[in-house]
Amino acid sequence: MFDSLSDRLGNVFDKLRGRGALSEADVRSAMREVRVALLEADVALPVARDFVDKATEKAVGQEVLRSVTPGQMVVKIVNDALIEMLGSDTAELNVAVNPPAVIMMVGLQGSGKTTTTAKLAKRLTEKERKKVLMASLDVARPAAQEQLAVLGRQANVETLPIVTGQQPVDIAKRALQSARLQGFDVVLLDTAGRLHVDDALMGEMKAVAAASSPTETLLVVDSLTGQDAVNVAKGFAGEVDLTGVVLTRMDGDARGGAALSMRAVTGKPIKFAGVGEGLDAIEPFHPQRVAGRILGMGDVVSLVERAAETIQVEDAEKLAAKMAKGKFDLDDLRMQLGQMQKMGGLGALASMMPGMKGMKGAMEKAQDTKALVHLEAMLSSMTAKERARPDLINAKRKIRIAKGSGRTVQEVNKLLKMHQEMETVMKKLKKMGGLGKLASLFG
Ligand code: GDP
Repeated sequence: MFDSLSDRLGNVFDKLRGRGALSEADVRSAMREVRVALLEADVALPVARDFVDKATEKAVGQEVLRSVTPGQMVVKIVNDALIEMLGSDTAELNVAVNPPAVIMMVGLQGSGKTTTTAKLAKRLTEKERKKVLMASLDVARPAAQEQLAVLGRQANVETLPIVTGQQPVDIAKRALQSARLQGFDVVLLDTAGRLHVDDALMGEMKAVAAASSPTETLLVVDSLTGQDAVNVAKGFAGEVDLTGVVLTRMDGDARGGAALSMRAVTGKPIKFAGVGEGLDAIEPFHPQRVAGRILGMGDVVSLVERAAETIQVEDAEKLAAKMAKGKFDLDDLRMQLGQMQKMGGLGALASMMPGMKGMKGAMEKAQDTKALVHLEAMLSSMTAKERARPDLINAKRKIRIAKGSGRTVQEVNKLLKMHQEMETVMKKLKKMGGLGKLASLFG
């Protein structure tokens, strides 16, 4: 998903990375490239234009924060603009009404509507413990009702028994009645698809909506059709009261144009993304996470925010340079302890780095202020040589350090163990290549 856009944006940011200061011309030329990248990802032209205008305006007027590079500032601005374009919140399904809540599924033939109906039904059953009933209102396509019944058996979700010859509005009414009588929480109505948006189809949607008062009307569109998907959504949104969009086949969509322009063009949030044929292959759509994935920077953006607020550039630069060589001695630990306070702890830092969550606990242990004072005392009792070469600290030296700082040998051992753990983390960071990114935050 979004692979090529991700690559293109990465290239744009790489060019900015080495700069000490950014001129307006730099920003404008970078933004021109961002615009080309968006258009190549098949984002609607007006949306791309609007995106670039807004981001440029922000970037040009922006004062660069002391401890980040101008390049990172631009990453952050593009990140925020992406989130704005995708819609800032995750849109939840509204099923918390007097039961049964009705979810009407609409869309063109082949969009993945029936599959999506079953996926959502399964999700509501398993994740939200709802009692769900599905009903197919598709009387146009002969096997449609049977298809939903088959999916229902696979998903362990009940389907409304088929009554041959019954028309959509009557099926919807029967589904609601059964749901009330049998205590279902949610009814999913899988309406008929068509090849195109046409009057007959819209008439039928409206009649079903009038008969069933849905709390959710979800449009299912195929993300692979790109801007056609957006146009279909526009067509439907003009006729029925859509509450959201489900984009299917996101698993095969490398460009992402439909996902990126859907919200801006239709005003409707993407609520779910279909990511495969299996009945579990559906995910809630998280704009922030998607933006993060597109920029391919993990949580570096939030790291920039934090660093911008607190970290001392010079110390950080020194540390970053040392760490880049894979070195982390007790002097570095001492410096780190001082900064931990300001950064909200190295644990917090670790939790922001992809793959580093495991280290969080060990680091948080050192966060308590009293413990920090003790650690500082022990570090001060060491000689400079010992701090640079912790491997020199033998049993005899440990006793001396413990005496000198008023601590116990066990505590000295704990400190040395903590240093070892952190050293391992630094090595890991270096191996991940995350260090380059970390170091570049400070450069
Ligand atoms: P409908 O005509 O709109 O009801 O479409 P169907 O639900 O019958 O789906 C058509 C085909 O698309 C089926 O083979 C589905 O398995 C497939 N499909 C649906 N959603 C997805 C998805 O998110 N990813 C992939 N790869 N295939 C999907």
